[in-house]
Formats: sequence, C-alpha cells, structure tokens
Amino acid sequence: MNENIRCSFCGRTSEEVNSMVAGRKDAFICENCIHAASKIVQEDDDDWSIGEPARVKTRNVGRNKLFPMEIKQELDRFVIGQEHAKKALSVAVYNHYKRVRAREQDGVPDGVELEKSNILLLGPSGTGKTLLARTLARILDVPFSISDATVLTEAGYVGEDVETILAQLLAAAGHDVKLAERGIIFIDEIDKVARKSDNASLTRDVSGEGVQQGLLKVLEGTIAHVPPKGGRKHPEQNLTNINTQDILFICGGAFVGLPEIIARRISANVIGFVMGNQQHIDHHDPQILHHVEPDDLIKYGLIPEFIGRLTVTAALSPLSDKDMKSILVDPKNALVKQYQKMFALDGIELLFEGAALDAIVKKAQGHGTGARGLRSVIEERMLDIMYRIHTYTGVTRCRITADTILHGVPPVYEQRRMSA
Ligand code: ADP
Repeated sequence: MNENIRCSFCGRTSEEVNSMVAGRKDAFICENCIHAASKIVQEDDDDWSIGEPARVKTRNVGRNKLFPMEIKQELDRFVIGQEHAKKALSVAVYNHYKRVRAREQDGVPDGVELEKSNILLLGPSGTGKTLLARTLARILDVPFSISDATVLTEAGYVGEDVETILAQLLAAAGHDVKLAERGIIFIDEIDKVARKSDNASLTRDVSGEGVQQGLLKVLEGTIAHVPPKGGRKHPEQNLTNINTQDILFICGGAFVGLPEIIARRISANVIGFVMGNQQHIDHHDPQILHHVEPDDLIKYGLIPEFIGRLTVTAALSPLSDKDMKSILVDPKNALVKQYQKMFALDGIELLFEGAALDAIVKKAQGHGTGARGLRSVIEERMLDIMYRIHTYTGVTRCRITADTILHGVPPVYEQRRMSA
C-alpha cells in the first residue's frame, strides 16, 4: 500500500493501521475510524473522545427520517407501557417532519399544503408525558425545551410571554435559529389555562383564555419576534425572528375532572339512543381518557380554536403495578440500575429482592404521583443506607428486602471472607 495514504478522519498513515478503505477523490478511512463511526451511528454514543470522527449535529433534519415503527421502537427503550400514545406520537412526528421535508423540497406545487399538526397529551401526573416528548426530541436529535403554561397566566402580558417559550427553545438550540425552527416545545400544565367555565360570560376568567389566544399564532405558524434572552421586550434589545411553522408543539396536562365530563357525555348518549355496542363507562375507568372528544375539551375550558391547532390527541393510562415495576428495572437509565452503578463504584453489589421491588411499587402507588413516587420511595430508604454503609468494613454485597422498604429494617450486608 502507498505509504502516503492517510485516513481522512484521524490522519493515521497506512503504516499505522491494518487496513484502510478507499473512497472517492483520495478519501480514505482507517479501520479504527470505521469502528468508532459505526459505534456513534448504532449506539447514539456521544461519549467517546478519541478526537476522530464525531457526531456532527446536522442543522437540517437531524435523524427525523425514521419511520413510525422505528420511532416507536426507540421510545420503547425508555418509556414503559403507554402503547397507544407511543404509536400515535410516532405517526404524528413522522408526518410532521415529512411535511417539513416535502415543503422544503417541492414547495406547494399542487396547492395542497399539508396542515401543521401539534399534539395534545392527556394523562395523570407522572405517567410519562414529559418523558415521551423529551425522548422523542432525543431520538430525532432536535432541540427541545419545556415550558410551563401556568407561568404565562401569572405574568399577565400574554403576547410577550408566549415568546419566552421560543426564547427557551432558542437557548436549547445554542442560539442557532435554523436549528430552533425544527425543534420540539413541550408546554406542560396546559389544562391549567382552561377557562373555569365553558360559559365565558358567567366568569371574568380572561387569563386562561387569554393565554390560549396568545398561543394560537405560534402553534399555527408565524414569524415571532423573540427577545433572545427571554423576558420582556425592551426597545433596546435586538429581537430575533423565529418562524414557528416547523416547530412541533406538544402540550400536556393531567386534566383532572375531564373523566367525569367524558363519562357524562357517554352516559347521556347511552340513555338518548339505544346503541348496540355502546357501553356505560364509569369515570373511574382507567381507560376513560382514551374516549375523549373535542367537545369534552371545550366543556373543560379549552377554546375551539386552540383545540383546532392540536390535531393529534393521545391519552396516557395510569401506570399498572406491572408497569411501575418495569420502570424500576427495565429502561436504559432505570432507577435501580442507577443505584446499582453508584454502589458498584464503591465495589459493592446492590441487589433488590423481588418482594422489595413490589413493596416500592405498592408504596409509590399510594402517593398518587405515578412513577414519580418511585424515586421518592427509593430515595427515602437509600439515603440512610448510603449514609451508613461505609462504616461497615468489607461489605461486598447489600441486599434490599421488602422489610427494608416497608419498615426501615436494615438491608442484608454480606462481607468479604478474610483469607486464612
Ligand atoms: P408527566 O406525565 O407528569 O409529564 P413525567 O414524564 O415527567 O410525568 O414522569 C416523571 C418521571 O417518572 C420520569 O422522569 C420517568 O423517570 C418516570 N416515568 C413516568 N412514566 C414513565 C413511563 N411510562 N416509563 C418510564 N418511566 C416513566
């Protein structure tokens, strides 16, 4: 092999490696860089640091050419259960970026413009709404920000505050406007900006409705003038123009009280008509939110124009005990895995007995905060254990039992046998 040949990535010569692959126009890649590059592509691994090929943050469409089934498979690695929501989101996101690419490539030659569709996620607290949105952004490799709709209510001056949502996305995109314009914004607690009554004339509740009105334009697609550092617009501050047409908005909320509205409508239908397969459904039914219709949301206090801009609605179910147990141990960054890693760094193997996991789930379900409760239950017990463990010499294994979780009984410590 010609000794002048160098890897176009790392600069190693053909003398320094076993094999080198030639590309077009004097481009070469050595086996080390092939290995490193394939690791980046397959594992989404940003950690490696040899200083050769590195993930290039593309400013156009990131990895959003994935098909819905591929998006769903990626979501499955991080989000337990919620099959329907994962499917609906995967299709919605695929369609969103397909629409973006179509317009970029062809404009609107036949006059048929694919309408923008933002997403509404309904479901009890701690069941994975934020996690779904955040994980989607990671999978697609686009900027992501979370805003709280209630902050908009409190501040009052709606028009300006809505733009702070965009300022947050701009910051997440490292102030790269083009990148931000492809991002995902999660607006949490959207149910809190509902009108208090669906008869607006009865109440003077303009704040919630005002926020919804303020959001209409950005959700639909507009050129917004954003103070780059957020906050109020000041005359002396240069504003950044952001086109929100291709930003995907995902709104989430627990919608307490909505199950009753849905159940009432369904029961009324059943009484009004003799419907063959229509069943009576109780508002306690865990699947009730899956039956939501736009009219229910209007009754709840969202204005029709606002609902019209959230064309995809997906409901999340309360997490079953089985889901909760799986959340503890299965996802890539599951809580149990995190604690085990922390203990392993001290040379201690941490084990949770099956009954201990069941006990954590049982206690967490009592909190009524979904999977969020898991962390507080584990943290409460592990704090004391982590505080004391270093006072016992030679501990190599720590086994957490159900009694540890339920009654604070110390875990079973196993010690290294002293060699004779
Ligand atoms: P919310 O529905 O209130 O937005 P989050 O998505 O913020 O809830 O969930 C809170 C935490 O609980 C997350 O950080 C995540 O660790 C865990 N969690 C909730 N739901 C799930 C789920 N379906 N799969 C895996 N983890 C979950």
